[in-house]
Amino acid sequence: MCAQLIDGKAIAQAVRGEIRSEIETWINQGGQRPGLATVLVGDDPASAVYVANKHRACAEVGIENFAHDLPADCSQPEVEALLAELNGDPRVSGILLQLPTPGHIDGSHLTTLIDAVKDVDGLTPVSAGLLAKGLPGLRPCTPAGVIELLGRHEVAMEGAEAVVLGRSDLVGRPVAALLLAQNATVTICHSRTRDLPEVCRRADILIAAVGRAEMVKGDWVKPGATVIDVGINRTVHGLTGDVEFVPASEVAGLITPVPGGVGPMTIAMLLGNTLHAARSQAV
Ligand code: NAP
Repeated sequence: MCAQLIDGKAIAQAVRGEIRSEIETWINQGGQRPGLATVLVGDDPASAVYVANKHRACAEVGIENFAHDLPADCSQPEVEALLAELNGDPRVSGILLQLPTPGHIDGSHLTTLIDAVKDVDGLTPVSAGLLAKGLPGLRPCTPAGVIELLGRHEVAMEGAEAVVLGRSDLVGRPVAALLLAQNATVTICHSRTRDLPEVCRRADILIAAVGRAEMVKGDWVKPGATVIDVGINRTVHGLTGDVEFVPASEVAGLITPVPGGVGPMTIAMLLGNTLHAARSQAV
């Protein structure tokens, strides 16, 4: 292997430490303790684990938790009423609606009801619009984590050829917009892209977010490129990314592992967004 490994776990830990001290300073200066309200509908075990991890991470950095666990049979108007209440609650700096919601609940409509200043997931249409227009706002956590990893490794984004595999609202589109904001030359690929390997070989920065285990082969990677693997795929061999790690790491200059790359950054950026939201609501 010749690529240097990007240690997302260590970087996320450093980010969390920085957020903890920023919150301490903020509170010492008279700021209100940031608060994160989580809304979990139903009893999906994976969602419950994700929310519990977020609570633990909040507690570690000094963010107050407001947990709202609603039964699987609650109604759409009940969740809407809760979101309206949280939008108006001054103790709540950020609101996180855990997705997916049960089938009878329209999660994507609920997302639109979250006040953009409290949208710590960065997924409301208002936040997406602000990002698309290059205006300040809360950014989606995983894409923001990707940019943080690149920044901490001083990867030159300005003028770089960046290729993003995937165009989802959650990862592909926002990561492309964030790279564009860094003045990269961005190509977005998707399932209809012709000659994907050839497009990937142009990339100084290759971001894989397709959700297909080891789809990106070693010979798709330009020598010395930075490869960020967002994919999380459960296979019989365990967790794998979207990139065939060993062959790609023989060609790349920098590469993220899966697990331990992008994954740990998501919660770290959520904590950062919650602090950011608290600050912006105080002015
Ligand atoms: P998604 O909504 O399923 O989007 C996948 C994208 O990949 C789509 O734009 C799709 O194209 C494209 N695609 C699928 N097959 C392709 C192919 N053969 N060639 C080219 N493009 C192809 O997935 P997502 O939510 O963006 O997530 C992507 C991956 O990231 C998943 O593995 C997910 O688990 C992971 N993830 C990780 C984190 C983290 O914290 N690390 C957070 C979120 C997601 P079309 O638009 O044409 O269908």
